Amino acid sequence: MGDKTKNLTEHPLVKPSVCALAMTYDCAHSDETRGLFRVRSSLSGEEINRFTHLNQSTEDLINKVLMQRHCGNITACCFQRCVGLDAGNAVFSVTYECDQKHGTKYHQRFRKYWTQVQREDWVVDGAMTDPKGDRSKRPKDQKDPDLFLRVTERRTNGVVVRGAKLHQTGILNSHEIMVMPTAAMDQGEENWAICFAVPTNTKGIRYIYGRQASDTRKLEGDKWLDVGNPTFGGQEVMTIFEDVFVPEERIFLNGEIDQCGKLVERFAAYHRQSYGGCKAGVGDVLIGATALIARMNGVDRASHIRDKIIEMIHLNETMFACGIACSALGRQTMAGNYEVDMLLANVCKLNVTRFPFDLAHLAIDIAGGLLGTMPSARDLDDPVTGPYIRKYLAAAEGIDVADRMKVLRLIENIVAGAGAVAYLIESVHGAGSPMAQRIMIGRQAELESKMNRVRRLLDIQ
Ligand code: SF4
Ligand code: FE
Repeated sequence: MGDKTKNLTEHPLVKPSVCALAMTYDCAHSDETRGLFRVRSSLSGEEINRFTHLNQSTEDLINKVLMQRHCGNITACCFQRCVGLDAGNAVFSVTYECDQKHGTKYHQRFRKYWTQVQREDWVVDGAMTDPKGDRSKRPKDQKDPDLFLRVTERRTNGVVVRGAKLHQTGILNSHEIMVMPTAAMDQGEENWAICFAVPTNTKGIRYIYGRQASDTRKLEGDKWLDVGNPTFGGQEVMTIFEDVFVPEERIFLNGEIDQCGKLVERFAAYHRQSYGGCKAGVGDVLIGATALIARMNGVDRASHIRDKIIEMIHLNETMFACGIACSALGRQTMAGNYEVDMLLANVCKLNVTRFPFDLAHLAIDIAGGLLGTMPSARDLDDPVTGPYIRKYLAAAEGIDVADRMKVLRLIENIVAGAGAVAYLIESVHGAGSPMAQRIMIGRQAELESKMNRVRRLLDIQ
């Protein structure tokens, strides 16, 4: 908002995102959850945080979704750490296959790098989405070639890159950035086929903090009731690479255009699986808040209210079930780690582009119009207006009006406020927009073999 910020972690707009990310460390150390959050590293044999783990089995893939659901439950927002995890798993297998095909040396390099990520328990930001400029044009045909991040100079000990990555979730809470190409690349686009990792404080990288709905409510420090989610929140940042030097040992793809599409697909599939966990986790909070407000309003026994809450549970568990299903049917890559079932991961994410809206609709329906018209926390505390608000917003007997307002604000936060960034907007566009999933579903569905099955059944030659 026009200022260069110094004390970033304490800034009221930023702090909620720091707190949300911090839970990924807290959970790895608390007695209650460390069993799920800690795992033995396939690289070093040491015990590590599952948020840095290379999946070794379908059980690992399932545990990842369970871990994400738990984090969604306790933060009710985006905890920002899954993109780098998904990027690491994708780069691990793609570098292996690239080396097999091209005789390059990326995989060993990546193993060494990721061992350090695990040992230090680093947060890695996964950076894929370029600005993309004119969507009808290829990277090499853009008027401004920087609209897709690219190599501008090759040196003996590394490369220099320029460009930008948009929508960088949690990047300012990350130690490292893993940059990946955003699409399959064609001949002549070798300079755009680049994958590397650098520390977030590398010279030449600039960050512009994104705005979110009702974010300035966070600046009213003493009145957190209006914020809705008082402790936690997400973070989205535009990241600019202004001639950034990347040393050789941090480069994991460099000109191998045939590997880019595969990297995008694999990363996307992992992240589409992730949403089956995190969005269901936030969904649990929305369902809980909706059931609670129904009780506070005194309508929780009405049969249509009960039925709507059951519908919410059904939608939420369907997203979760898809996350579990694509994990359970995962398989081993050539490099040894496990990838999810591509078709089911895309079905998972396509459901996520729709179901949270149905959940939000039902939550708004049950919560009532007050969700959009309620006075502020300041008015509640005001000696003139406060008593009126307490008198006229009283609902079921024994319910404190301020508590009722808190629950309504939390619902508002998730369906229409800052929380809706992760719950609704990101559910549509994060990990690829709906059409990307439809394309993958079409590709993976083996329609020809389904037709052949009918031909065989009916003896059609
Ligand atoms: Fe993780 Fe969900 Fe946030 Fe993606 S949107 S980083 S999966 S919490
Ligand atoms: Fe995301």
